[in-house]
Amino acid sequence: MNIILLGAPGVGKGTQAKKIMQKFRIPQISTGEILRNEVKSGSALGQKVKSLLDQGQLVPDDLMLEIVHHRLRQPDCKRGFILDGFPRTIPQARGLDKLLKKLKIPPVTVIEIYAPDRIIIERITSRRICGKCGTDYNLKLNPPPPDNRCRICGGKIVQRDDDKAETIKKRLAVYQEQTKPLIDYYNKQDHFHRFDGQLSVDELFRQIESIVEKNE
Ligand code: AMP
Repeated sequence: MNIILLGAPGVGKGTQAKKIMQKFRIPQISTGEILRNEVKSGSALGQKVKSLLDQGQLVPDDLMLEIVHHRLRQPDCKRGFILDGFPRTIPQARGLDKLLKKLKIPPVTVIEIYAPDRIIIERITSRRICGKCGTDYNLKLNPPPPDNRCRICGGKIVQRDDDKAETIKKRLAVYQEQTKPLIDYYNKQDHFHRFDGQLSVDELFRQIESIVEKNE
């Protein structure tokens, strides 16, 4: 079972990816998380991409394809995977098509989650993450404990630099310009499904789960 999750930043892709991962035992490949970990570790790649992430801009396509190529060849992807945050441009989608052919990976189910900008901005500004293990929190729906330490690892809970109000507008503009055209790209293919991101987390998962089960 191979899945691509499409949708604007903050629409709920990460939350649903984690639920799919738990239920179907396939890894979530969040390219944003991979890049944030590189930045945190101070690696050469991290230093190269830090300012792009801080400004809400996209990392170049060839670099992203290289990262995903490397990740998809890992043994845990043999049974399937969930791509969360990739592809984000038409050249990335074309590159991914070629890559899947080369790696002899069967067709991918594409799941789009949509919601109005107003809702997305509200959600992103309430989003917090553990600076150590990346667990998601939300000031309204899943508030951090009073000591502001992660329930899983005890790390400090912070706001992502690119979740601050100035950067969100830029990220939404980048989404409209560069990622939204992917919806047309995949809509023309089989296995494309759209879901309402304003549903509750559990109801949205129930609907996604039934599609994933059908395509398994
Ligand atoms: P995300 O966690 O998916 O919102 O990604 C955070 C940031 O990482 C984005 O704003 C981009 O700067 C970068 N990024 C993540 N995935 C990609 C991608 N597929 N292509 C280019 N840049 C990406």
